[in-house]
Amino acid sequence: MVLPVSAPFKNLVAGAWVEPATGEYFENRNPADRTDLIGCFPKSGVEDVRRATESAVRGFATWSRTPAPVRGQVLQRVGDLLVRRKEELARAMTREMGKVLLETRGDVQEGIDTAYYAHTEGRQLFGRTVPSELPHKWAMTYRRPIGVAGVITPFNFPLAVPSWKIFPALLCGNAVIWKPSEDVPLTAHLLVEVLLEAGLPPEVVQLVQGVGPEAGQALVEHPQVSVISFTGSTATGARIGAICGKLHKRLALEMGGKNAMIVMDDADLELALEGVLWGAFGTTGQRCTATSRLILHGRVHDRFVQMVCERAERLRLGPGADEGTEMGPLIHEPARRKVETYVELGKREGASVLTGGERPVGKGFDRGWFYKPTVLVGVKPGTRVEQEEIFGPVLAVIKVDSLDEAIAVNNDVPYGLSSALYTRNVDAAFRAMADLDTGITYINAPTIGAEAHLPFGGVKQTGNGHREGGWAAYDFYSETKVIYVDFSGKLQRAQIDTAQTRPGAPPAAPR
Ligand code: NAD
Repeated sequence: MVLPVSAPFKNLVAGAWVEPATGEYFENRNPADRTDLIGCFPKSGVEDVRRATESAVRGFATWSRTPAPVRGQVLQRVGDLLVRRKEELARAMTREMGKVLLETRGDVQEGIDTAYYAHTEGRQLFGRTVPSELPHKWAMTYRRPIGVAGVITPFNFPLAVPSWKIFPALLCGNAVIWKPSEDVPLTAHLLVEVLLEAGLPPEVVQLVQGVGPEAGQALVEHPQVSVISFTGSTATGARIGAICGKLHKRLALEMGGKNAMIVMDDADLELALEGVLWGAFGTTGQRCTATSRLILHGRVHDRFVQMVCERAERLRLGPGADEGTEMGPLIHEPARRKVETYVELGKREGASVLTGGERPVGKGFDRGWFYKPTVLVGVKPGTRVEQEEIFGPVLAVIKVDSLDEAIAVNNDVPYGLSSALYTRNVDAAFRAMADLDTGITYINAPTIGAEAHLPFGGVKQTGNGHREGGWAAYDFYSETKVIYVDFSGKLQRAQIDTAQTRPGAPPAAPR
């Protein structure tokens, strides 16, 4: 156990900032400079989750009865406050997560966009009114809140990913218990401050900090938490899915990726170059949608690989808080070790490192978890480095001879989040849009860059069929209730009494 520093952070439970029942804390340090201790945060356990759930059940009772447009106004104020605190939040996020300020500002902006989208949804939340098969009868649906939603989030988008879950869950009238990643607890603390300042009733949101197998698992297992929304690795998602299956919980899983960019021989190579650098090395390769495979047509392979390596070598590494930095550190030492292991594995599998493949030296790099942008060529389809998520700045290059082969290589992985194709051939683009087996496909743009008002998610082992973002999230966080109103004054039996309403049917016998 780590002793709390002078002002350890707290959980938010039952409307108050409280110490964890465990009395334990964990440290949060800057990945660009491990001597920089950001703070100590609660290492919560089962009892903390129990108390949070008790409170959330009370919060749900009042919040679910608050009209949706009023709930939407709270989300609008959340958006306004995020605008006001954008720079502060971005800097806090860079300090604890490592990505460059340009990207953490974008992360906050995604939260702002999601809040304003939620605001407008408060005056929609459409149900449907449809014709009944019987006369003098109406049939319609409307959306009801579900209950307490447990939200478990990863480190790489400390504000954007939680906002995709928390804002629609709240707008739909649910109470939320949030267990953020133990790698980014400060951003979580600040976002919950914003929610309270915006006027969210105190028991409607609970923040339970801690590590996954303790606080996270307790949340998944609690019988009164009826919805679980998880984003993280496929391995963790599988564990959570097994528990939720037994408990019959509503569950959304957003998990890993092994995304590819295909560059054909007719592509604008300068455009593709900008795309692959951003896709592969943005967020130090730690995006679920990161471009971790480059599938290159043989006719442009050597030239394009050379262009990529020249630019990758010039990318400026450093702390994300320095304005000139283009790529920050990895999140922690195990993440860097994982990258190193995969690069070694790739070499054993026959690939060659053309650039990178090592830690940078000098300039204070030894204080953080830095690793050079790395390009592996000669990667064979089916090898582990081509199939498995590395989650670091490593680009695996695969040579192909045709679009058919490129699509087959793209699809032959266990994941299916994002894909990209660079071509000037409209027929090829439309074929790829249909045949690339991913939840998202970009044409002449890299594998990253989701917008808040569109659905987001993947197929195969990336997800379990739900979508975040846009209108799709609102289906997940609400129950559809069906209402029939019969004003005929008599019993009308569905499927049975319909015969007499058909054209040409004899008049109904008097009752
Ligand atoms: P992770 O799976 O290690 O952790 C994610 C969250 O789950 C954390 O809050 C963690 O504490 C919690 N957790 C861990 N074990 C748990 C358990 N047994 N029970 C309950 N909760 C548990 O993932 P990470 O390293 O934080 O994030 C990286 C992963 O997230 C990558 O695989 C990436 O592709 C994925 N990701 C996916 C998307 C998407 O939308 N598909 C978006 C961002 C990140």
